[in-house]
Amino acid sequence: MEKLIIESFLTELNDSNMYLVTDRDSQRAILIDPSDADIIRQHMLGRGCSRKAQIEYIILTHEHYDHIAALSEARSLFTGCKVIASRKCSDRIQNPRKNMSKYFDIILAFKDGYDAAKRQGCHIEPYVSEAADIVFESSMCLDWNGHCITLVEAAGHSPGSILIDIDGQHLFCGDSLSYDYETLTKLPGGDGTAYERNTKSMLRSFGGEAIAYPGHGRAFVLAEAAHRLE
Ligand SMILES: [Zn+2]
Repeated sequence: MEKLIIESFLTELNDSNMYLVTDRDSQRAILIDPSDADIIRQHMLGRGCSRKAQIEYIILTHEHYDHIAALSEARSLFTGCKVIASRKCSDRIQNPRKNMSKYFDIILAFKDGYDAAKRQGCHIEPYVSEAADIVFESSMCLDWNGHCITLVEAAGHSPGSILIDIDGQHLFCGDSLSYDYETLTKLPGGDGTAYERNTKSMLRSFGGEAIAYPGHGRAFVLAEAAHRLE
């Protein structure tokens, strides 16, 4: 039986994916990219929810607002859990320009398929988060309930972007790779050259049979996205 339970939650804000990774034996969990407080309350703190208060870590794939919007709330709900991010991500979540919350209304307004009626009156305030509890540069390894978690910086989409590899089988890519969307490297702080040179080759080095969990769009077998890594 698979030792990890991976649940994906599609959030209303920019259709971002939020993930809950639970170790089946210990029932301890990691929350990746907390972007919707209502979903967190409903699915992780609801009555009878078996995973209540067992979240040990929150890991951020990168600093953009649509991936961190519920970070402060998640921290207050899951007291004792530690937030892990790259140092650049941790620095940038504290700045509304660098986490893009200051511009997010405009970003949504120009998005394809934007539903103006749905978001009418939903103004996004500039968002400032506290620093992460655990920061790293380049890479870090985490031995978590018998699982080997490797976090590695992956510049291109944003300065603070990382890849999260669990047991060489599950790869959380943030906005560095999606099956459905081309990787965006033109936002402020984006770096197309670094993406082409470093991040793409790093992604190609992962086993093609690993499952990739993107920040937007559906999960996929890494080999399926070969066309995005040419
Ligand atoms: Zn992003």
